[in-house]
Amino acid sequence: MVVILDNGHGAETAGKCSPVWADMTQLKEYEFNRDVTALIAYKCKMAHIPFVMLVPEYSDISLAERVKRADAVYRKDRRAFLFSIHANAGGGTGWEAWTSKGKTKSDEYCTILYEEAERAFGKEWKIRKDTLDGDPDKESQFYILKHTKCPAVLSENFFMDTERDCRFIMSHEGRERIAEVHFRAIKRIFDEYGKD
Ligand SMILES: [Zn+2]
Repeated sequence: MVVILDNGHGAETAGKCSPVWADMTQLKEYEFNRDVTALIAYKCKMAHIPFVMLVPEYSDISLAERVKRADAVYRKDRRAFLFSIHANAGGGTGWEAWTSKGKTKSDEYCTILYEEAERAFGKEWKIRKDTLDGDPDKESQFYILKHTKCPAVLSENFFMDTERDCRFIMSHEGRERIAEVHFRAIKRIFDEYGKD
């Protein structure tokens, strides 16, 4: 079993950044995604959990190419699953995660990720949920979720265009806590699904 870590977007992806705050700081989503993904990878490495970095490049790798790479890993290992790490935008607050539409293994993995996020952030932050279909994830048609054959979960880790959220994900503490949430979920998935 292997976890595929996707860091979303490249350095030149247009519009994926926070406003420039009063102190002139600004978050670029590609940088945040890569930093958190690297922290997760390091935790996996220390725990001897096999992982693949889907996009080692700094440039923008097309979604079609990302799907191709994920599917190539999945063909070799049918237990492989993908976590895609993002920051949210659109003026809300809090944490959420998405899976492809319909009932798949992704839903079970996403539920585990939500449990860890709730445990870590639930007292201080809004955990955004769509519980109409019985599991908490907000189902969507994000390209990578829709097109990859691999079970896939996409997390939107707080809002880069809401200042309180953005300050949190610019901080090392925030990034470390987000990485830890993902790592704990990955560990649980390996323990619960990796044996058969
Ligand atoms: Zn994104």
